[in-house]
Amino acid sequence: MAAYSPLADELHGLLPQTQCTRCGYDGCRPYAEAIAAGVADINRCPPGGETTLQRLAALTGRPAKPLDPECGEAGPPRVALIDPSRCIGCARCLPPCPVDAIVGAQRQLHVVLDDLCTGCELCIAPCPVDCITLVPRAAQAPRSPEPAAADNLRRYDAHRTRRERREAERLALLAERKARAARLSTRGSDGAA
Ligand code: SF4
Ligand code: SF4
Repeated sequence: MAAYSPLADELHGLLPQTQCTRCGYDGCRPYAEAIAAGVADINRCPPGGETTLQRLAALTGRPAKPLDPECGEAGPPRVALIDPSRCIGCARCLPPCPVDAIVGAQRQLHVVLDDLCTGCELCIAPCPVDCITLVPRAAQAPRSPEPAAADNLRRYDAHRTRRERREAERLALLAERKARAARLSTRGSDGAA
């Protein structure tokens, strides 16, 4: 993690917190830090669109040039939609969703909560049956506004904390199993001697 930078903090506050990685960085925070460090340009955030671009330009004093096509296009807000007739309930779409907008259990139908979905697309590639598509938010959820950036960030932090905890638990269990196996094999070789 880069050293603390007040500019990175301010830039981070201007980003939409969709954590979609389309900027080429591992989330909105690393992108903000890269802009502050002068290693990334300000035109790499499609979900933020023209509004975010202008705000980043105003804060950094850099020229607001067109969005980098390498990062994809800005567009109307979209949400993910799971085709219920094809979902096999494998749960592979749950871990990549940075804001926990998908609900479901093993071998059960999974559903996207439109109010929480940021349209980041991160759930699409892991789905083994390609049953997730992105649809215009206006068509799918006309009454639900885009989730606020602050809510996205709160959910992303909770999601990341939980995943880090689970990973730590998994590694601890692995280490414990290895230690037990080593003890058993030592006891076995002592018994044979
Ligand atoms: S449901 Fe899919 S598109 Fe929506 S926020 Fe989660 S990962 Fe992104
Ligand atoms: S990855 Fe696809 S098939 Fe698996 S639970 Fe999610 S939507 Fe259903």
